[in-house]
Amino acid sequence: MQSQKRRPVVAGNWKMNGDLALAESFTTAFEGQTLDNIDVILCPPFTLLNSLSSDVFSVGAQTCSEYDNGAHTGEVSCGMIKACGAQYVILGHSERRTDQAESNQLIAKKVEACLKEGLTPILCIGESLEVRESGELFNFLEEQLTVVIEHVGIESFRNMVIAYEPIWAIGTGLTASPEQAQEVHAFIRALLKKSNEAIAENIAILYGGSVKGSNAKELFGQEDVDGGLIGGASLKFEEFLTICQAAN
Ligand code: PEP
Repeated sequence: MQSQKRRPVVAGNWKMNGDLALAESFTTAFEGQTLDNIDVILCPPFTLLNSLSSDVFSVGAQTCSEYDNGAHTGEVSCGMIKACGAQYVILGHSERRTDQAESNQLIAKKVEACLKEGLTPILCIGESLEVRESGELFNFLEEQLTVVIEHVGIESFRNMVIAYEPIWAIGTGLTASPEQAQEVHAFIRALLKKSNEAIAENIAILYGGSVKGSNAKELFGQEDVDGGLIGGASLKFEEFLTICQAAN
């Protein structure tokens, strides 16, 4: 990693995968690993939040309710997530934006709910290939980010992580080139800088989209890439460990 200022983060998003045996195998396999220079986070389905615990990694959820409690069948509140020992919540993942029609406004409310509970949101933003090819890439990302900044205020970004995840690279095997990732990460940091320079300098901006053991080092070597949000490769311990080591 190039930046001396920012502590790298590698977060694994298990999505709707994994079982108790996998959770226990990761807990055991991480025991005694020395990854002192990064924050490692594993985000399993809700049902496994209680089954993952470690001195080496933290645990996160993959979404949350914007409400504290009440008649919201099927929802899980930030308080409940925290009670399971989790410290992070992935929000705004493109799969939820698509499958559950989550809007920028709803995501902003969920970010607020997390922060209120003392959980750290991992806010995902990213464009489709169509948006990229239309020339609207930066306007699109600016809108995704600005809605959240306006809702929770820039100061809240002291306790947040951002993940840039181009939709065309998620689960497709197509990775953004290190230069493409760097270009967008620098844009995001410059955008934050307009509101608060120190926060922009300190926030971890992760890249996500088909990161593997074989491409992690080059991606993480970019000036503004502070680690990764890892989908498929986070389900295989050795592969995930290689990615963590590339950031460490
Ligand atoms: C993700 O879903 O957050 C992701 C980056 O997936 P993958 O690594 O499988 O592309």
